[in-house]
Amino acid sequence: KSGFISIIGRPNVGKSTFMNKVIGHKVAIMSDKAQTTRNKVQGVLTTDDAQMIFIDTPGIHKPKHALGDYMMKIAKNTLKEVDLIMFMVNVDESIGKGDEYIIELLKQTKTPVFLVLNKIDLIHPDQLLVEIEKYQKTMEFAEIVPISALEGLNIETLLTQFKRYL
Ligand code: GDP
Ligand code: MG
Repeated sequence: KSGFISIIGRPNVGKSTFMNKVIGHKVAIMSDKAQTTRNKVQGVLTTDDAQMIFIDTPGIHKPKHALGDYMMKIAKNTLKEVDLIMFMVNVDESIGKGDEYIIELLKQTKTPVFLVLNKIDLIHPDQLLVEIEKYQKTMEFAEIVPISALEGLNIETLLTQFKRYL
């Protein structure tokens, strides 16, 4: 099994921390040729039974007014072409404008979207359920997975779920 996963989320939600945790030193650097403006490979995770290619989608976390039509088109095309989208949010912060903007884009794609609620180490378990309900009202997610990228909580579960979609 092999597939492309687009990681999106506004700044500081923990995307880089997640990549470091998951890929760590096993990061396979792709040649510059493979890197296009459309999709920048952040890392490749190879396990016994799957290969996951994580890509960054430029332009997707910018507010609407700062995005040209061209960049918008590129972002949308990327989301269409990947096997799944990992939308990461900070569970310790309320849904912001940046998140709403991304959600609007996500609604326009048929690609399965994983909602990854990061930083669960910062909240009480009761609060987690409240946050999940809030996000469920915004759109339909293929899966909702709470994690802590920093503490490595539930990462294996997330990767197992990914494999089901590749
Ligand atoms: P990015 O901008 O989405 O790539 O976010 P970063 O990975 O750079 O993380 C932003 C900040 O959040 C850093 O200070 C991280 O240490 C912190 N952070 C990331 N993941 C977690 C987490 O699961 N729990 C906590 N408490 N902090 C986190
Ligand atoms: Mg980063």
